[in-house]
Amino acid sequence: MVSDTARETYLLLGGEDIAPVFERNSGGRSPFLLVSDHFGSELPRRLGNLGLSEGELVRHIAWDIGIAGVATALSDRLDAHLIAQNYSRLVIDCNRPLHVEGSIPAISETTGVPGNEGLADSAIAARRREVFDPYHRRIGDAIDRRERSALPSVLVALHSFTPVYKGIARPWHVAALYRNGGPLPPLLLQALRAEGDLVVGDNEPYSVGEETDYTIPVHGEGRGLINTGIEIRQDLIADATGQRQWAERLARILLGIEATLRGKRLI
Ligand SMILES: [Zn+2]
Repeated sequence: MVSDTARETYLLLGGEDIAPVFERNSGGRSPFLLVSDHFGSELPRRLGNLGLSEGELVRHIAWDIGIAGVATALSDRLDAHLIAQNYSRLVIDCNRPLHVEGSIPAISETTGVPGNEGLADSAIAARRREVFDPYHRRIGDAIDRRERSALPSVLVALHSFTPVYKGIARPWHVAALYRNGGPLPPLLLQALRAEGDLVVGDNEPYSVGEETDYTIPVHGEGRGLINTGIEIRQDLIADATGQRQWAERLARILLGIEATLRGKRLI
């Protein structure tokens, strides 16, 4: 029998919707735990197109263009567990604290999102309960499991950024984003600069903050893990070739960093 409470609960995902969490190589032995908050562009059927055109829904406002291909190939090359969010950041942004306006954005860059305006509390709660919570619960559980099996967790949050934001061009090809990441961000910056052909951002075009980030503060810093964000400019990974090349490059760099961390007994 369905209770009154259950009957009143607003359900977001139905039988035709995919699960929120995407995982790959969950038994991977790499110390790197890969996460991707803006991996997917799916919308629950119940939300329609959020009042946006198809053109808007494939733009960077909906997801991190290109990062899914990089993340999956990198996961395979490193034998690293990847945990990723299938639903668009326009449904709920899994890298924003729940209390900030950008959590369920009514405006993204300069585009209004009609389907996110004036939401009832029950609709907001459903997006948290059915999309945000399972993703972050899974990351937390994975870190717990790794601790129990003495597998180190070096958290790497994978993102991509638009080459032009609000009319301003961004020169960086790739960036490390961090706050209290331990030894990883400086090693990553050093390795990226040593590539010789890259403009490398050091906490640019973003930095990690309490109001603008959730994943690194909660799962990286909050758990005392060595961590970093990696941001790749979207025009470099727009096609499969670019995604494969960046996965190869990052795998090579991260394997070198793993050797350094092991040599210094930091993992
Ligand atoms: Zn992102």
